[in-house]
Amino acid sequence: MTGTITETRAVTRDDLEALRADVRAFLRDEIDRGAFEPDVDSWMTGFDPEFSRRLGERGWLGMTIPQAYGGRGRTATERFVITEELLAHGAPVAAHWIADRQMAPGILANGTEEQKQRYLPGIAAGTSFFAIGMSEPDAGSDLAAVRTRAVAGGDSWTISGTKVWTTGAHLAHAMVLLARTDGRPEDRHEGLSQLVIDLPHPDIEIRPLESIDGQAHFNEVIFHDAVVDSSALLGERGKGWSQVMRELAFERSGPERYLSTMPLLRAWADELRTHGATEEQRVTLGTLTARAWALRSMSLQVADELSAGRRPDVLAAMVKDLGSTFEGDLVDAIRSSSGVAARCSGGSRMERLMAQSVLHTPAFTLRGGTNEILRGIVARGLGIR
Ligand SMILES: Cc1cc2nc3c(=O)[nH]c(=O)nc-3n(C[C@H](O)[C@H](O)[C@H](O)COP(=O)(O)OP(=O)(O)OC[C@H]3O[C@@H](n4cnc5c(N)ncnc54)[C@H](O)[C@@H]3O)c2cc1C
Repeated sequence: MTGTITETRAVTRDDLEALRADVRAFLRDEIDRGAFEPDVDSWMTGFDPEFSRRLGERGWLGMTIPQAYGGRGRTATERFVITEELLAHGAPVAAHWIADRQMAPGILANGTEEQKQRYLPGIAAGTSFFAIGMSEPDAGSDLAAVRTRAVAGGDSWTISGTKVWTTGAHLAHAMVLLARTDGRPEDRHEGLSQLVIDLPHPDIEIRPLESIDGQAHFNEVIFHDAVVDSSALLGERGKGWSQVMRELAFERSGPERYLSTMPLLRAWADELRTHGATEEQRVTLGTLTARAWALRSMSLQVADELSAGRRPDVLAAMVKDLGSTFEGDLVDAIRSSSGVAARCSGGSRMERLMAQSVLHTPAFTLRGGTNEILRGIVARGLGIR
């Protein structure tokens, strides 16, 4: 059994359209029966384990995981169709998002047979949720400066240190941690390793951090000499940096990097259809739609590259930079063109979506690596000094 994601069969345009129609019908039904209300940024804050489980039951998670590990053995393009429909409908997908997006490919590429058997079926079923343990209080953008240490001893690792902004750690079943296992901080990219840590753990403290909208979806995570089995090592000891870089291409390039505020655009388009649009509003709507379409083409290109086993790090960084900028521009453009006020509660659907958008926008260009850092990656990739 190979560990990489590959295109396992030819998929026709008709196959994709049929899949899209199924997903849309399912989502319309879910909305009609009140299972969820479309929200902005639902992949970050819309945590609904039951919804994730229903997607798993339909075979719409773990799409690119081989069937031998409980997955569907489908293509990255089919996965793309499903994720973009879920995002455009503002569905509550946060519970499974990180696991399905980047932990499944990471474990497939680097995990032991035991790790694949243990974690992948639950990810595909929508019942096993993951957190990302990369960022640290005094490292941040300088990821190679992580100070969390995992010390090997016999059959175990002992972990000490602090991670921060760890999305969903309080609800996750496991975390993939980046820690220094060898050498000194000055060794930078050398001596870092990834470990899969089961949660909760008696010596891992998870403290909620409240964001501006009053939600607490990310955390500070403190390791108090937490002991885990030696089998927690993911991939090669000391090669964590290159494993993480590969994982980040999955994290940065998907449709969630330009569709977080799409429910607002859709709601506004509905309003204009019902009440009529001025010429200026038509132009704004058309401009935003065209930008989304261009970003979609770029993101699809990254999905193709990833499934062919290549490393489109530069293109992924561009998608995230341009996409997350677009998500914020969309909010500003609709706000000034529609005049809709932002109201957290008691307002109309548009006012509520506008409030969510305004409060969430500051995070778009930070999470997953800030845009300034991404531009450095793009410049270096293009050979600019
Ligand atoms: C909503 C949200 C969810 C997140 N979820 C997770 C998660 O689940 N797991 C996880 O590990 N992390 C997570 N993060 C953390 C995220 O990846 C970091 O916030 C990000 O990498 C930036 O690090 P920092 O916050 O320490 O900012 P800093 O590194 O302190 O940066 C502050 C500012 O300085 C700029 N800057 C820094 N260095 C340079 C430079 N060399 N050149 C130019 N400008 C620079 C940055 O661009 C930024 O504008 C999340 C963040 C957010 C906002």
